[in-house]
Amino acid sequence: MAEITPIPLRALTTLRVGAAPARMIDAESRDELVAVLREVWASGDAWFVLGGGSNLFVGDEPFDGTVVRVRTEGIERLPAPPGRVRLRVQAGHSWDDLVAYAVSAGLSGIEAMSGIPGTVGAAPVQNVGAYGQEIVGTLVEVELIDERGGEVTVVPATELGLGFRTSVLKEHYGSVRERSAVILSVTLELEEQGDGAHPVAGAQLRQALGLDVTEAVTLRWIRDRVLEIRASKGMVLDDADPDTYSAGSFFQNIIVPAAVARALPPECPRWPVHPDLDRVTVVPLAQYDGMLPPAPGVSPDVKISAGWLIEQAGLRKGYRIPRSRAGLSTKHALALTNRGGATAEELAELARLIQVRVHSDFGINLQPEPVLIGIEL
Ligand SMILES: Cc1cc2nc3c(=O)[nH]c(=O)nc-3n(C[C@H](O)[C@H](O)[C@H](O)COP(=O)(O)OP(=O)(O)OC[C@H]3O[C@@H](n4cnc5c(N)ncnc54)[C@H](O)[C@@H]3O)c2cc1C
Repeated sequence: MAEITPIPLRALTTLRVGAAPARMIDAESRDELVAVLREVWASGDAWFVLGGGSNLFVGDEPFDGTVVRVRTEGIERLPAPPGRVRLRVQAGHSWDDLVAYAVSAGLSGIEAMSGIPGTVGAAPVQNVGAYGQEIVGTLVEVELIDERGGEVTVVPATELGLGFRTSVLKEHYGSVRERSAVILSVTLELEEQGDGAHPVAGAQLRQALGLDVTEAVTLRWIRDRVLEIRASKGMVLDDADPDTYSAGSFFQNIIVPAAVARALPPECPRWPVHPDLDRVTVVPLAQYDGMLPPAPGVSPDVKISAGWLIEQAGLRKGYRIPRSRAGLSTKHALALTNRGGATAEELAELARLIQVRVHSDFGINLQPEPVLIGIEL
């Protein structure tokens, strides 16, 4: 455990804003992480843990507390049922390095999430996902340390409240976390697929990759293609591309009842939301296309595109408030970006304008996806 001279958060977050906090500690091993958290919690100081800083929007004023950088690494293979492999991964390990490892080892289950920035420990916090794959699909359990009591426990994925970009560990804007805890390691169970070509499961992923149901491709091919598509949207970090100086999607796509979605213009992109089924539903194989039908009698929820609403509200890709150094990505209307030297307040001003415009045109309140610290919308 090393207390270091605090580094400005603008150098450690992908939105590139934020001053140096009062105190900063690096934890390089699991035991150091446990020790430093217990020490900080005993002191009563304000605190937060920092992974890759790719889902954080911090304010301009220095954070008056301790920032703990999670820099633990390592992948360990655990016993698993035949045909499957369990990986226990330390929280500070790079998520994309884990995906690259899995793909090169012929393990499937996370390849569609190639290129998501950040650390493995932060991935369950908002149940990261892309192209229809989410970490909830492969997550077995996490090793957690709870602020209350400082105990380390192994918690099954089913107890983490994982949903669309949420979990009990995420601090959503305007509300406190349901469980104040830090993930020390994550255990995933992946399928042994090998280097061969296979048909791709999941309609959303096939659609993104331009594949039909029977077309067979390798995991490597999927990873390369996903990285290519994401890069074209500014969704892979690239120091040379200001469209990636973002927190990814700044606002969440919105989940509304089908009746509300019907009131929106038909061109508004929408996707079915997988319902929580509490009984066995038999879906004929010939009709199954990666989506489960809603339970009978339940009005299905629908996910609608926040990026589309923003563009329809007149704020197109590349939009900037005059004289502001914050702007929408030129590739993706849902990504707020720092065009160079923007303050957190400049980014917040743009975010507020978007919220007001979308609300006045569609009556919908857009909710920020990143965790906000020291800044309000
Ligand atoms: C270009 C770009 C593209 C993106 N694309 C996607 C995408 O496709 N899908 C998606 O879901 N997300 C996406 N994101 C968002 C982001 O990459 C993910 O949310 C990622 O998991 C954040 O990891 P991090 O280590 O950077 O977390 P940080 O930003 O460091 O932290 C985020 C939150 O998690 C907490 N946290 C961090 N580590 C831990 C831990 N070990 N235990 C408990 N809490 C912790 C932090 O305190 C903070 O509250 C994108 C972001 C960018 C910049």
